[in-house]
Amino acid sequence: MAQPELVLSRYLVFSPTSYRHPSGRLLRALYHTARARTLLLDTRTVDVLATDGPAALPAGEQTRLTDLGVLVPAGTDETAEVIAAGAQAAETSRHRQFVVMPTAYCNMGCGYCGQRHRRDAPATRTVRHRDAVAARVERAMAGGDHDSVLVRWFGGEPLMGYAVLRDLSARFVAAADRHQVAYSALLVTNGALLDARKLRSLHLDCRVDQLEITIDGPQQVHERSRPLNSGQGSYDRITAALRAMLDDTDLAGLRATVRSNIGLHNAGQATEFATAMRDAGLADPRIRFYPSPVHSWGNDVSDLRLRQRQAAETELRWYAAYLAAGLHCRVLPSQPVRVVCTATSRHSEVLAPDGRIYSCTEQPLVPGFTDEHVGSVDTANPRQLRPAGRFDDWYTGLAAGETGCRNCPILPVCGGACPKLWREGTPPCPPLKDGLAGRIDLFARSSGLVPA
Ligand code: SF4
Ligand code: SF4
Repeated sequence: MAQPELVLSRYLVFSPTSYRHPSGRLLRALYHTARARTLLLDTRTVDVLATDGPAALPAGEQTRLTDLGVLVPAGTDETAEVIAAGAQAAETSRHRQFVVMPTAYCNMGCGYCGQRHRRDAPATRTVRHRDAVAARVERAMAGGDHDSVLVRWFGGEPLMGYAVLRDLSARFVAAADRHQVAYSALLVTNGALLDARKLRSLHLDCRVDQLEITIDGPQQVHERSRPLNSGQGSYDRITAALRAMLDDTDLAGLRATVRSNIGLHNAGQATEFATAMRDAGLADPRIRFYPSPVHSWGNDVSDLRLRQRQAAETELRWYAAYLAAGLHCRVLPSQPVRVVCTATSRHSEVLAPDGRIYSCTEQPLVPGFTDEHVGSVDTANPRQLRPAGRFDDWYTGLAAGETGCRNCPILPVCGGACPKLWREGTPPCPPLKDGLAGRIDLFARSSGLVPA
């Protein structure tokens, strides 16, 4: 029987350069976005593929490259497969996620933040509100449709609602144990209120196993970019807390990501920042660093925002600085993004401090969007998934070509970035779109390959 014609996968991105392996072989690096894998191919093979096509390769090589996903049978609709995998993951997840906002207040006043913070809504502080949240989460655990529940503590600054967080955590943990559901929690925090004692309670009692903390640069830059309302600094406290996390052997299961919101104000500070983090003792595999360009939540960030190409170049410089300082980071995505965000799966929801339920994390507390809630914790049926939201048809829209994503080579690791921004008419393409070839090159060099 005739073998089907093979063609190159549409989800391959090649490094701009060739490398010399210690054995003397010349190699090209490529990144397969649908598999989120980096591969090395002989430059001879790459040349044959480019000039004569896959059929010119020996049969064994064709089989090997097909197994790696580099070659696919002609006519394969890879994009349809990627979108269908996302739709299925969003629809049939055995994993339930609650983004819980224990407070509407924040102790910082960052210039680029799109939220409007307020002293707590009365509902947050009442036992009745907490009872309703705990009952909704427990009902999801008891339903038998999910094997695991993740709670993402989000704000405002969640640690301004530390008592609420602790109270709800105790109830969530007990309920998870009662219903034999795996439970884990992630805390998105500015870190200013963290200390060694709170870290122990968060991890050992509240089962937080992942922190996401923001440091915007070396000390002076960070304090300017993320000012505390009290006028005090936070840099020393954050770095001390991260050090305490590393030093406490009971916290070995706790990990952190350090995000830097990058814009015109700190784009050039990569080396100074990475060196400072290394000198603070934070070059440890349990702490992973990443830069994230400042973007608009509907607010005006034109004074800070980097343009698309500039953002890609800046991001690359920050990753290079991390590596040079021995910090840990993920230069290339390590897994495909099937479900892009909470807003695209009814297995996820956002519980706001005033008891409203949202599908999107950038609606509660954001002026102009607070009325986009999809229900309330008092009235939503706890036996059902999140009430329907505006972006639940995301995958249908993707397949229909509603956005530019269908033809994009990085769709499998981007996922379309942000349905809300697409529907507001602002393509949310991350810097990775322009910077992927450079990131592959950085990855190859950091793996010890020498440009030929
Ligand atoms: S729609 Fe955009 S802003 Fe809303 S949760 Fe998804 S990624 Fe975030
Ligand atoms: S958001 Fe932009 S980069 Fe991401 S898949 Fe869509 S077109 Fe590509």
